[in-house]
Amino acid sequence: MSNGSVLLVLYEGGKHAEEQEKLLGAIENELGIRKYIESNGYQLLTTVDKDPEPSSAVDEHLKDAEIVITTPFYPAYITKSRIAQAPKLKLAITAGVGSDHVDLNAANERKITVTEVTGSNVVSVAEHVIMTILVLIRNYNGGHSQAVNGEWDIAGVAKHEYDLEDKVVSTVGAGRIGYRVLERLIAFNPKKLLYYDYQDLPPEAVKRLNDVSQLLNGKGDVVQRVEKLEDMVSQSDVVTINAPLHEGTRGLFNKELISHMKNGSYLVNTARGAICVAEDVDAAVKSGKLAGYGGDVWDQQPAPKDHPWRSMDNRDHTANAMTVHISGTSLDAQERYALGVKNILESYFSKKFDYRPQDVIVKDGKYATRAYGQRK
Ligand code: NAD
Repeated sequence: MSNGSVLLVLYEGGKHAEEQEKLLGAIENELGIRKYIESNGYQLLTTVDKDPEPSSAVDEHLKDAEIVITTPFYPAYITKSRIAQAPKLKLAITAGVGSDHVDLNAANERKITVTEVTGSNVVSVAEHVIMTILVLIRNYNGGHSQAVNGEWDIAGVAKHEYDLEDKVVSTVGAGRIGYRVLERLIAFNPKKLLYYDYQDLPPEAVKRLNDVSQLLNGKGDVVQRVEKLEDMVSQSDVVTINAPLHEGTRGLFNKELISHMKNGSYLVNTARGAICVAEDVDAAVKSGKLAGYGGDVWDQQPAPKDHPWRSMDNRDHTANAMTVHISGTSLDAQERYALGVKNILESYFSKKFDYRPQDVIVKDGKYATRAYGQRK
């Protein structure tokens, strides 16, 4: 007789999961938590079949599930209507960071707790952001495609290639990832590092960055907060988005906001695809308003084959630095979020509910975090 059931929805690993046992985030490896769940008297249900609602295995299993574990990489959307069909659901765990794929307001109405493994992949994403900025600004794509295609036209590559040094780089959102992006950028001796966030960075965090900049680059006042987003993007050579998806960020980078960006600037988004309007970004890249767009998050995942961001580019094929959603799912990150999921389950199974405070997104009908928009 089991206590209840835990539904785990992960992406398929196939032969890769056989070849690489560290791929804990693949369905075959089940985050390494089957034995642990079963030893607590719970039944583990696993599936990759998440779409379409309401006829997928997720819909079927949710009828019984007390706990659902999902990931942002292969999101099973826990919508209001799915929540309505899941009478026993008490806890939703995100294996990773970013729980916008759960309807948080609907979870609050039902007093379902939503948790994630905060911090588990923030370094992984910050590294990906830096890589993407460099891929775009150094025109890696142009140079690499010539190398493997037997070509040698240096001018054709160099005409789109700049240094990152002495540029203005900004972040929308200066939380765990945004801060780490700023921290890593200091090494490139930027002209300015700007941030836009309704939560101020702690003064000691800003001081630390400026002190390192002073030490490395002889400039002690590079990091600055900007009050208005339009003002920030209009002075930035590179803008990176590091804020959660919520009512206040959905569709934020639309035609209007992009029109305030510097001509020929770069936009990097590893936060959530739906923060940008796909068609407006596509148009800005095609027109040259944006010299490039890169990131790993899409408004639909898996993205359809004809998604505009797959083919989006300029004439010289240098402006697209998209990948599939991989930045937060390095093997190191998988190890951390698998462990974090187990810790959250431990808090639940023990009935102590002593979750790490930073892991709790909504609980008891309320937002426990200040990161998902300004709320009363
Ligand atoms: P965090 O909570 O530490 O920081 C988020 C920051 O964004 C907060 O300071 C918050 O105040 C700010 N913010 C919220 N709304 C804003 C707005 N409208 N304008 C400006 N700032 C705003 O979160 P984090 O760990 O830095 O992660 C940020 C997001 O990155 C996650 O919510 C997730 O969507 C995304 N993420 C993506 C991946 C990936 O694999 N691509 C992995 C991890 C996280």
